Amino acid sequence: TVRVRIAPSPTGNLHIGTARTAVFNWLFARHHQGQFILRIEDTDEVRSQPQYTQNILDGLSWLGLNWDEGPIFQSERIDQYHQAIQKLLDQGLAYRCYTTPEELDGLREGQKARKEAPRYDNRHRDLSKEQEDAFIAEGRQPVIRFKIDDDGHIAWTDLVRGPMNWKGSDLGGDMVIARANASGEIGQPLYNLAVVVDDLDMKISHVIRGEDHIANTAKQILLYEALGGTVPVFSHTPLILNPEGRKLSKRDGVTSISDFQDMGFTAEALANYMTLLGWSPPDATQELFSLKDAAEQFSFERVNKAGAKFDWDKLDWINSQYLHPMPAAELVDRLIPYWQAAGFTFDPVADRPWLEQLTALIGPSLTRLKDCVDMSQFLFVESVDFSEEAVTQLQQDGVSAALQSLADGLSALEEFSAEAAQSIIKQVVKDQGVKKGLVMKSLRAALTGALKGPDLMESWLLLHQRKADLGRLRDAIA
Ligand code: GLU
Repeated sequence: TVRVRIAPSPTGNLHIGTARTAVFNWLFARHHQGQFILRIEDTDEVRSQPQYTQNILDGLSWLGLNWDEGPIFQSERIDQYHQAIQKLLDQGLAYRCYTTPEELDGLREGQKARKEAPRYDNRHRDLSKEQEDAFIAEGRQPVIRFKIDDDGHIAWTDLVRGPMNWKGSDLGGDMVIARANASGEIGQPLYNLAVVVDDLDMKISHVIRGEDHIANTAKQILLYEALGGTVPVFSHTPLILNPEGRKLSKRDGVTSISDFQDMGFTAEALANYMTLLGWSPPDATQELFSLKDAAEQFSFERVNKAGAKFDWDKLDWINSQYLHPMPAAELVDRLIPYWQAAGFTFDPVADRPWLEQLTALIGPSLTRLKDCVDMSQFLFVESVDFSEEAVTQLQQDGVSAALQSLADGLSALEEFSAEAAQSIIKQVVKDQGVKKGLVMKSLRAALTGALKGPDLMESWLLLHQRKADLGRLRDAIA
């Protein structure tokens, strides 16, 4: 059976790269009716923060990437790691290394001067009891290293990259698997060791993760073998690149899922877009699908080796494809949080019919949910800020008189409706001898503070319901 996992470190918010890896794991698990497991790699006590764990759980849930087991916290499994390390020590596959940071620096400098790749020279592999005692007496704090045979070969068939071959000598010498305290007791286990112990215990069948872990995979395979476990199948997914082709980073604007959420992307659209970051369906023209649809079609045969460029236009397009067909009664619930975050005052319950009417008006023009803030600001604020063009418009000859006449017509009105509003406009055109275009443009400037925006008559109706239209007309004249 297929058992996969996502193993984020809670040292930051859920990153788009981790989320995309989670998507591929989830798709693969669902395709094979397997299990998707969530593991929180929180052994780094200094950098791990509970709010990041929360952000990761919230982000995965929001995207619809439900997990079948977990979250399992590495910090609660320290005993298991210590047992594994002890076993490696007992078998002579690992040892305590007392090389000081200064000695390691010296080693690196020499290697650099000789233009050699940095590596540990395994100098403490076969210390005698006396040598060890002497180092301990000096107060040196050891680390625990796992022996790597320089003459060894490591090979696996990667689901994305095909046959992979590594030489033991390319792995930088015996690797550190744990820290230890001054009396040599096993301390904090390091990433490669903890991952292998966990993946073995959790019976992970396929390890699907970013290609930045390829060198770790070579090392981890040696640990699987040493710990007597079955090596899982590996699949290294391409990195996400910025439009310039470099690894996507914070400098590219956003990198965490909650940022995308704040910007107004829907979970469905973002999940849809992430499936396409490196994967394409058998019918490559199909661009819109749910995670469930994608899971039915998913296989690693259609995952690219090359990095996946992040394309904002495409994400925007996909997002709008999800928003536009959405009924106003549903879309309104997605917009309310953005209006609230913008600090607009309204009552989400009592004002709901009005909000729904507003949603119907602006919904078809939205690309991101957050666009609703700018598009409808004029409806929520006490008084509008006039754009330069609007000010110029309001200063045109005849505009004051026309707006005054509109205001008079409006205040004399018994019941407001679209038809009534139209007839007031007609009357003003007739009485003032001005063009209808001038009246409409001035009306828009007065009511909205701008010359562009959603349908004017609909906007007027909405403003009237907020009892704001008459005041705006008067303010524009004053
Ligand atoms: N904590 C590691 C990371 O966030 C997990 C890598 C793995 O999947 O093994 O990159």
